[in-house]
Amino acid sequence: MSDNVLKKDFNKKDVERLRNLVKGKSGERTSQGIGYTKKEEFHKEGDIWEADGRKWTIKDGIKQNITKLDKFKTAAVPLFCPTCNNIMNKQLDPHYFKAHGACLDCIKTKETKLKISGKLDEHAKDVHNKEIDKTIEEYTQFMNVKMNESNDGFVTEAGEVEKWKGGVNKERAEEALREGIEYLKSLKKE
Ligand SMILES: [Zn+2]
Repeated sequence: MSDNVLKKDFNKKDVERLRNLVKGKSGERTSQGIGYTKKEEFHKEGDIWEADGRKWTIKDGIKQNITKLDKFKTAAVPLFCPTCNNIMNKQLDPHYFKAHGACLDCIKTKETKLKISGKLDEHAKDVHNKEIDKTIEEYTQFMNVKMNESNDGFVTEAGEVEKWKGGVNKERAEEALREGIEYLKSLKKE
């Protein structure tokens, strides 16, 4: 191979092919020339332009496809959880963020807190209602004992002793007892 043949075959096309090989673009056609026939365009941060049928911009100094950015925007999942400020890198974080506006951990913590406070409320209600049941039971027993053992009178729900001539008016006493129980029941929590 003479120097002449080498010069003839090793033309601009080959230079470009070599350049593309070095850049890892070996499959790319070289006949159009890369970056020579095309007017070079320079873009700065925030510019939007079209190339290869797609819209591009420069964000944080990096050329990015706008379609991708739009998709990211639609998903509207920030990098950091707005509640705990931790990075949302767990698989279910985007799902939880879209549904509840915070990361998986925050939602779990919130749910646990709600469960605990719900149980505490339930417990307080239980205690309250059981106390009323106990009061009703004691009141009823007390009244029944009073009505049966004495002719002197009976104790109303307000704690007053009522007397009737000729002994305890059992009907009146039972009515008072019923009213007392109704009142106590109305103090129960739903
Ligand atoms: Zn969080």
